[in-house]
Amino acid sequence: MQNYITELNKLKENASFRSIKNIDEKFSKYILSENKKMLNFSSNDYLNISTNRDLISEFCEKYKNHPEFLFSSASARLLTGNSSCYRALEEKFATLFNKERALLFNTGYQCNQSIVSTLFTKSDCIFSDKLNHASIVSGLKLSPATHFRYKHNDYDALERLLITHRNKFQNAIIISESVFSMDGDIADIKKLVELKKKYNCLLMIDEAHAFGVFGDNLTGVSRELNLSCDVDIFTVTLGKSLASCGAVAISNNIIIDYLINKASGFIFSTALPSVNILWSKFLLDEKFDFLLKQKEKLNDLFKRVHKIYPTVSSSQIIPVVLGDAEKTKSMAQYLQSEGFYVLPINPPTVPVGTSRLRLSLTSDIQFEEIRELLEKVNCNISG
Ligand code: PLP
Repeated sequence: MQNYITELNKLKENASFRSIKNIDEKFSKYILSENKKMLNFSSNDYLNISTNRDLISEFCEKYKNHPEFLFSSASARLLTGNSSCYRALEEKFATLFNKERALLFNTGYQCNQSIVSTLFTKSDCIFSDKLNHASIVSGLKLSPATHFRYKHNDYDALERLLITHRNKFQNAIIISESVFSMDGDIADIKKLVELKKKYNCLLMIDEAHAFGVFGDNLTGVSRELNLSCDVDIFTVTLGKSLASCGAVAISNNIIIDYLINKASGFIFSTALPSVNILWSKFLLDEKFDFLLKQKEKLNDLFKRVHKIYPTVSSSQIIPVVLGDAEKTKSMAQYLQSEGFYVLPINPPTVPVGTSRLRLSLTSDIQFEEIRELLEKVNCNISG
């Protein structure tokens, strides 16, 4: 046990020790923790749907007698954990992204890890942005393929790697998030498409933080740029803007059939409860206009915020980089005491020396509330 204790003590010394916070209640843009009501700046519920009681009541009223209104699938999809709503939701995603097929996974983590670790052999190679999510990094470690991690959003660096290494391997893929989860900056998907074509690679884009926030039909950055045909695999998590759970891989028939047959994260895991699938479908099929309205509000909000607080971000995720982990922790505590639920993000989630507050904006937050928060940050730094 001593090795664990030593490691945990090291994390405590670096202000990087993680513990699970007590949260009593969440409602709309608020959070109640330890009897304090705060504005929630730390949620991925970007469209403020997850606690919308009117929507939840309407859904339950309408679907409570539906045969698929069940809280457990009790089995993997390939056994008895399947019913018609799963296929219907997958078809919905395939249509939204203009692709042939889609496949549900239980989490975005499982989805990314499964795809990256399953699709490539030791004759193949993977080019991955250095700031890609931990689930992609985990997939890289599990994959027999050789991988190269290029400097974040640095396409010259990527091209140098492609020039040096691409020809040594059979198949290759480039992987990037669209909206990056810790900086809120956006990959240049057009450039990635150009490189994938020039060097004969596949392209995978994780639209986790873009789905629901970008694109006329909510599908994210690539579709907004009309590039969805050139992206070979999309991944989308359903626990953020869609206020549900699970994730979906969206691609062509061959890739999806391959995942169904080879991805252990799909094959050997109990399927999501069908009630969640119904809920995701209800939101997409019946509440799409409401989602679009929330999306427009959020876009207006973050564009105004970028004008008064310019950062690398072009999205709803605003990094307030303070550098030092201890300083970031005490700033977060101060903001919480002032009624803003902001959390510190420290290494290893972000690179050493870039500890930050990650402000996550949601549709129902008001511009003045953000201005007040940013003023408090500035006063605290200069004071
Ligand atoms: N991809 C990105 C970019 C993420 O930020 C996350 C989670 O935050 C995931 C994937 C994992 O999704 P999930 O929370 O559904 O496991």
